[in-house]
Amino acid sequence: MIQRIRGFRDILPAESGLWQYIERTAAGLFTDFGFKQIRIPLMERTELFARSIGEDTDIVEKEMYTLTDRGGDQITLRPEATASVVRAYLQNKLYATEPVQKVYTIGPMFRRERPQKGRYRQFYQINVEVLGSASALVDAQLIVMLMRLMARLEVKDVSVHLNSLGCPECRPAYRKALLAYIDGRAEVLCSDCRRRQQNNPLRVLDCKVPDCRDAMAQAPAMRDHLCDDCQAHFEACCTMLQRQDVPFEIDNRLVRGLDYYTRTTFEIQTSALGAQSAVAGGGRYDGLMAALGGPALPATGFAIGLDRLVEIVAQSVPGVADRHQRLPDLYVAALGDASQQQAYLWLCQLADEGIWAEMDFEDRSLKSQMKRADRLGAPWTLILGERELAEGRLVLRNMQTKQQQPVSLDTVVPELLGHLKA
Ligand code: ATP
Ligand code: MG
Repeated sequence: MIQRIRGFRDILPAESGLWQYIERTAAGLFTDFGFKQIRIPLMERTELFARSIGEDTDIVEKEMYTLTDRGGDQITLRPEATASVVRAYLQNKLYATEPVQKVYTIGPMFRRERPQKGRYRQFYQINVEVLGSASALVDAQLIVMLMRLMARLEVKDVSVHLNSLGCPECRPAYRKALLAYIDGRAEVLCSDCRRRQQNNPLRVLDCKVPDCRDAMAQAPAMRDHLCDDCQAHFEACCTMLQRQDVPFEIDNRLVRGLDYYTRTTFEIQTSALGAQSAVAGGGRYDGLMAALGGPALPATGFAIGLDRLVEIVAQSVPGVADRHQRLPDLYVAALGDASQQQAYLWLCQLADEGIWAEMDFEDRSLKSQMKRADRLGAPWTLILGERELAEGRLVLRNMQTKQQQPVSLDTVVPELLGHLKA
């Protein structure tokens, strides 16, 4: 028996109803805020990710699934969506007709990290991006949308963590202060941090190694170094969140390691998932378009970890997975060839009316068919043997009350529709 690849997962039929419900809820909410779906490739040129995610990151250093295809091109299974969305915006010149584009996309990402609970090598993200706007109101709106989504999904145990990363004006001075702070503590840092600190000192702030965290506890904060414009931008975002009663915590450690990340940065965290506490992460990347060779347009967005979101919803809403598992509306217990063929025809007609009727094609006994009807949770069962067929009278059984009523052979479908749609 061939097994699936380590770190990959199957989403089984019993779980997929919950996934679909969450995806539907998210898509519906984004649409209410004027977002449209964009579909991007699963693979891109390796260069796109190397340049947009950055060489000094875990993703690019060690997690990408990269291969040389038969034509000799270096291609990579996408580890995230933002790079592709930006590429699509630039390549299709979406900015030429309507500079501000609000898009979302849902799909799998690939990162070869150590598999553990809440961490897979193929995982799913819901991505939302607003391209072409520099407004702090847009950042606030993204955070509000995320929290509205949590509310629609009845998830309570989540908090917003917020920071500003400044801009190319004010970050260099901060970087210097941070480097000076790190300099005195380099020997206690992990090997990744030691290697990265010169190129990428901000990354040391979000290292998860406990010794690194301790060493960085008193590090200088970007917020104390913001220029006036960045300060005003950050305050505008905070003010909108306050006016909408969205609580948030300012978190100095929340950073991204690359120069093109600017200003607002945020994360949605939960205590429901143990070690993997980040449900969603996002922020502004005003420098990315220019870094990819496009016009210098601003952008902002977020990514939700869908695997983790599904887990939280399943944990925080009792019975939610069952509620989103569709049950048959009717079971048809048919006995004998002629009855089965008749039942089959009704099944198809009922499906056209949006009614799911289930039957047995294996010619089992009435008893075992009634058992199956119970197991499937069908509220009604229509009983159809050769005798019923000959007499033109069938029996419709309410599986809960056990009451039975006759149904006439000539009017089965309309009668059933009357009962089932009532
Ligand atoms: P983490 O800190 O958990 O490694 P990250 O900073 O690498 O997350 P992002 O690249 O910001 O994550 O992706 C956004 C979200 O995608 C994360 O908040 C998380 O919920 C989810 N995510 C990231 N990596 C994985 C993974 N390997 N398996 C499942 N979900 C993931
Ligand atoms: Mg990660």
